[in-house]
Amino acid sequence: MPYDLIIRNGRIIDGSGIPAFRGDVAISGGRIVEIGRLSGEARRVLDADGRVVAPGIVDNHTHYDAQVTWDPLCTYSCYHGATTVVIGNCSLALAPAHAEDREPLAGVLSRVEAIPLEAIRAGVTWSWETIPQYMDALDRRLGVNVACLIGHSAVRRYVMGEASQERHATDDEVAAMKAIVREGLEAGAIGVSFERNFRHFDWNGRLAPTNVAADEEIFAVASVVDEVGRGVIQCGGDRDLGVRIATSSGRPVFYGNITQQAIAPNRWRERLAETESLQRQGYRAYQFVMPRPGDLRFTLKTAQHFDTMPTWRSVMMLPLEERKRAFRDPETRARLHVEAVETPPNPNLGGDFTRRWDLCFVHRPALPGHQDLKGKSVAQIAGEQGRDVLDVFLDLALEEDLETVFERREVNSDEAAMAALLTSPHMVIGQSDGGAHVVFRTDYSYSTYMLSHWVREKGIMSLEEAIRKLTFVPASLFGLYDRGLVRPGMAADLMVFDPETIGPLEPEEADDLPGGATRRKQLAQDIEWTVVNGEVLLEEGEHTGVYPGKVARSGSPAAAAAG
Ligand SMILES: [Zn+2]
Repeated sequence: MPYDLIIRNGRIIDGSGIPAFRGDVAISGGRIVEIGRLSGEARRVLDADGRVVAPGIVDNHTHYDAQVTWDPLCTYSCYHGATTVVIGNCSLALAPAHAEDREPLAGVLSRVEAIPLEAIRAGVTWSWETIPQYMDALDRRLGVNVACLIGHSAVRRYVMGEASQERHATDDEVAAMKAIVREGLEAGAIGVSFERNFRHFDWNGRLAPTNVAADEEIFAVASVVDEVGRGVIQCGGDRDLGVRIATSSGRPVFYGNITQQAIAPNRWRERLAETESLQRQGYRAYQFVMPRPGDLRFTLKTAQHFDTMPTWRSVMMLPLEERKRAFRDPETRARLHVEAVETPPNPNLGGDFTRRWDLCFVHRPALPGHQDLKGKSVAQIAGEQGRDVLDVFLDLALEEDLETVFERREVNSDEAAMAALLTSPHMVIGQSDGGAHVVFRTDYSYSTYMLSHWVREKGIMSLEEAIRKLTFVPASLFGLYDRGLVRPGMAADLMVFDPETIGPLEPEEADDLPGGATRRKQLAQDIEWTVVNGEVLLEEGEHTGVYPGKVARSGSPAAAAAG
């Protein structure tokens, strides 16, 4: 019998971390069947000479819950080699849902994760009530594999209705939630997610349901994964709660992410030490690190970055013409200077402006005559011109009618700190938030950024190690035991790419959301083929028209066979 597919002559990087080797990969029935120098026939042959054949990326923290129902490819993660995405994070999900829960669930997902509500309303065709029904509905048409976490906010809403955003649960309600979580896990959901973030509101200014829960409820609902003996726990927003869950559960617990921040330069070290210490004690406590630098772009038309400073806040609230007058007024400017240049930042004040004018760059000058300033920091320009930083900043913006696009590079921008985090065996690479914050962020390109910037350009780790961290590690931690390795018997999820040229392309704007809303689109170059369950999903970045994805259900193949 011929194989379904052979990928010939590739440099196989199998995801385990062992050195790359030359060979062919044969696939039949959606699984890898042989690896080596193979002579058998195949219905389709791909020549991967000069290319790397690696497991597909496991995009381990996304919010495609709504989008996947109208976009089974989960764009744009799939363009960066993702063959599996994890949805249902941060307590947010679209199942279970009574008919009357649909609008509230859409609203909270939209508000918390910055997904246009019109897109969810126009795009989602609700055809499920329970979690197993939702997974079955997805299973009918998927481009990539989707692994589902059970969202506590959705479960709480389903059990408690409006009261889910108002009060603690009764014992009976907690028992009902536990039963729903158990049913979801037994149907193959890969875990349960919570959030404790008192800034996560719906469009009516009410807290998302999970935030109203008492600790006892969260611990009770989380304990179902231990009872079932399968699944992970994700809990964002409150590290203390996350650590307490991690030290009371035997399951993997994802309790946050570590960022390097200019405002608190040593905080990442303390957070890394904490995770390391928990893991050394035997707890399965994990945090994510995002390889991409934060690129907060703003203009003085809409920026909220200065809101912690009183004069700035009141000036930024003024209508545009009055605001420009205020920026020109010497007295006001003197006060703005005291606040944004002379006063040191307060690291304990959430989101305080860092006063790091050396990390505030002119991203896109509006006037042709200012193009030489592009890419320079405000501090650098001030130095060159012998002027004050605030005068440089405000005068440039005023000359350009506040159209100048600035960029703050203060998060994940210190390369030494980032190299330490990314190479640490205690950190998990990811948390792309794919499908969320669609207007501003493109962190779903983290995989191609990792392979181009950190591996090829900076050489902080070998390609083999980077692939292991992007595939085998997350597949293992999330219980996806038949993915994340190029090995006979494993699902044939593969990416074939040119290691010399792979990388993310410049972001652009796309207006492809249902209802016409726009989002930020970033594609990648030189991923030749992306293979999902043995079928070529993307060829040179183009969808081939097939839908080979599956709901990736938890549990080992052996456990499934044992029934
Ligand atoms: Zn999230």
